[in-house]
Order: sequence, then structure tokens, then C-alpha cells
Amino acid sequence: MEIKIDKVSYIYNADNPFSKVALDNVSINIKKNEFIGIIGHTGSGKSTLVQHLNALMIPTKGKVYVDDIDTSEKSKDKIEIRKKVGLVFQYPEYQLFEETVYKDIAFGPTNIGCTEEETEERVKWACEIVGLDFEYIKNKSPFELSGGQKRRVAIAGVLAMKPDCLVLDEPTAGLDPRGRDEILDEIRRLYEQHNMTIVLVSHSMEDVARLVNRIIVMDSGKIYMDGTPKEIFARPDKLIKVGLDVPQVTEFMLKLKEKGANIPTDVITVEEAYGILKNYLKESKDA
Ligand code: ADP
Repeated sequence: MEIKIDKVSYIYNADNPFSKVALDNVSINIKKNEFIGIIGHTGSGKSTLVQHLNALMIPTKGKVYVDDIDTSEKSKDKIEIRKKVGLVFQYPEYQLFEETVYKDIAFGPTNIGCTEEETEERVKWACEIVGLDFEYIKNKSPFELSGGQKRRVAIAGVLAMKPDCLVLDEPTAGLDPRGRDEILDEIRRLYEQHNMTIVLVSHSMEDVARLVNRIIVMDSGKIYMDGTPKEIFARPDKLIKVGLDVPQVTEFMLKLKEKGANIPTDVITVEEAYGILKNYLKESKDA
């Protein structure tokens, strides 16, 4: 599975005075089993970009290819694309509509012609991945669940399509810290154990630093930076210019360095900082 975004521009309201260029000549290749974080200030084009990945939006200019399927070709069956790329919107629980959790998660598989047996197997699988007890929850109404559970049902509905690539637009928005960590752990497991390609839009520098292996920074509809988390967070000056930050732990290490500590500053997780500081303190003591 590969997604190729080739010189894509997207203009909202192209034909009237309210037109807005949301994507401006964007090119990105997404390869199998990458875990990509997309960050950028509000309005930088992240949501518009990810909606192009499963043909929900079609470029005003340029092309998006999912494997070899050109998403802008009218004759192409969008279902084929959506079987390969699943998109979880921001606040996906607003799109739950069926009377039971089972029916909601089964909607996609049923639509693509899975048998009842296969559908049930997929619903069970998706529930397990997002940490929902299938037997307990299957006949409940989605509307009687907590916010975190509704979010899981919505994500399970996309997973039940068994996509090769899962795209999530701010999947933890509005959740409490525990719910947030659980969902991020489940996403990490999908990447590590189920070989999914993951694209995660997030405003949390901490989350992308510890999860992804490539970060794309958007600004004003363009790709502003593209690299590994270490490469991106090594440039706090560039990030600050577009209203972003580095993870708190990176900032902390930079400040220590400024004060004269001889330590590396390309540190992006607390665990890494802990190891470095432990050694540094030991060496200082020995000296
Ligand atoms: P982000 O996800 O980074 O916040 P968006 O992709 O939502 O950015 O928006 C990119 C730009 O397009 C912003 O300037 C936004 O105001 C504009 N935009 C988004 N949706 C619409 C819309 N439906 N109609 C007009 N302009 C829009």
C-alpha cells in the first residue's frame, strides 16, 4: 500500500469571492507501515489534507493515488479506496446513527458485501482492538455510552473495514488523560502488531514525539517541514515561527544546555531524558 499526493492544491469556494486556498502544491509519499504525525497551527490545512487520502475530497489541482488508483477519476469505485484507507474524523462519535453499537460498527462491512458471519467476526475484532467488551456492548444504544466509549465505537466502525492505512484526525480531542492514553496505546498496537500504516493529526507535540516515525509540519496549506521527530524537534526556532512548540522535555534539555550542562539536546521523550540525566549526574559526581 502506498499513497502518493502529487502537487495537490485545494481551494474552498473556488468560484466565489469567499475562495480560500487550503492546500497549495502539496506533494507527499506515504509508504507502507509508516507512522506519520501531521502537526500545524489551526487552519494550516491538516484536515483538508487528510480528507484527500480516502477520496472524500478531490484535489482542485494535482492528483492523489492510493496504490495505483487515481482518486479523482469519476469512474473509479470509491469503495475500493475506502477499503484501503480508513478515515476517523474529528469527534467521530457525532456520526454514530444506528440503534445499536453492533449495527453501527457493522455498517461498513455490510455495505461492502461481507457475509453476516464475516461481519460479526470483523465487529468482534474491531471491538477487541479498541478495548470494548463485545458481549456487553453489542446491543446497547451508542447514545447511552460515555464519551470515551462512543469514540471507541466510532473508531471500531472504521477498523471493521480492515483498512491497510488508518488516518485519524485529532482522535483524542476532548478526552480525559486516561482515555487519551488508552486510545493512543491502541493506535500504537495497530501499527506495531497489525502492520497498519498510520497517519495521525495531532496538536500534542508530546504524543507525536513518542509515537510516530515521521512528522509533517503544515503551514498555510504547504509542507513546511518533513522529517523524523528528532530532526523536526531539533529546530525549535523554525517551529516557533509557525506557532508550534517542541515537547516540554526537549525545551527542558535545551534550557539545561544553555545553563552550561554538557548534554545532547535532540531528546524527545521523558524516558530518554531520564537516562541521559542519570548518566550526566553520575559523571559530574565522579568528576
Ligand atoms: P486545520 O485542520 O489545520 O485546522 P483546515 O484544513 O480545517 O485546517 O483548514 C484550512 C483552511 O481552509 C483554513 O483557512 C480554513 O478556514 C479553510 N476551510 C476549512 N474548511 C472550509 C470550508 N468548509 N469552507 C471554507 N473554508 C474552509
